[in-house]
Amino acid sequence: MKTKPKVGFFDFTGCEGCQLTVLNLEDQLLDLLNLVEIVEFREVMTGQVDSLDIAFVEGSITREQDVARLKEIRSRAGKLIALGACADMAGINALRVDTGPEGLRREVYASDAPNLKTFSPRRIAEVVPVDGRLPGCPVDGQEFLSVLQALLLDRKPVLPAFPVCVECKLAENACTFERGIVCLGPVVRGGCQAICIAGGDRCRGCRGLVDQPRSSPYRRILEENGLGVDEILAEFRTFNIDGGDES
Ligand code: SF4
Ligand code: SF4
Ligand code: SF4
Repeated sequence: MKTKPKVGFFDFTGCEGCQLTVLNLEDQLLDLLNLVEIVEFREVMTGQVDSLDIAFVEGSITREQDVARLKEIRSRAGKLIALGACADMAGINALRVDTGPEGLRREVYASDAPNLKTFSPRRIAEVVPVDGRLPGCPVDGQEFLSVLQALLLDRKPVLPAFPVCVECKLAENACTFERGIVCLGPVVRGGCQAICIAGGDRCRGCRGLVDQPRSSPYRRILEENGLGVDEILAEFRTFNIDGGDES
């Protein structure tokens, strides 16, 4: 009998929301288990295997022991995928990167916490080669399934190449700029169905920059609304250290 591809989930610094998104795929989970064998997933099982076909890695890298562990996972995995904004772009973990690790430790623990040796959050692609990425905070469950499908068919996963605005306009949401509220939708990668705008918020950029963002029309929208690039950069830094790895 043909063996199923072995899949594992691993976490570093993050809230585990991306892993929970996978677990919440209740309607598809049984079908998924017919296709793959989940061999490591700390949230639901114990144990470790010598090798696996696909490793999904959540969270950013913040300690030396993380570096060693991530390299060890990489050495066992045929393919390794960044799962979510923390792994892909360092995510909200990098929000206070300007404060530096010592400053953050002092702020949180009221001392330098000498036993807690952390460094500024790193994307996993800064430590090991990655074979694909799932953007978002958290990831989109359906996009996770389509990326997994591509990997099982030995194809390179392809992410949407259009901005959030496209899905937002198709959904006929009212544009936040009409209320003078900054939205990053024109330059952020779509694929989330503009869920935040549909829910009454704005796009805060959790899926990172779309490929070749069209900055000129965006600048014009900003100018028309009395806003500037500084406001956008401040907003964009919520999830992105430097725009993320576009590999
Ligand atoms: S990307 Fe968001 S949901 Fe996923 S682990 Fe990081 S903080 Fe949590
Ligand atoms: S700018 Fe934001 S709210 Fe306006 S259409 Fe684009 S995604 Fe929607
Ligand atoms: S609308 Fe923007 S912030 Fe919200 S999920 Fe989509 S990309 Fe992320």
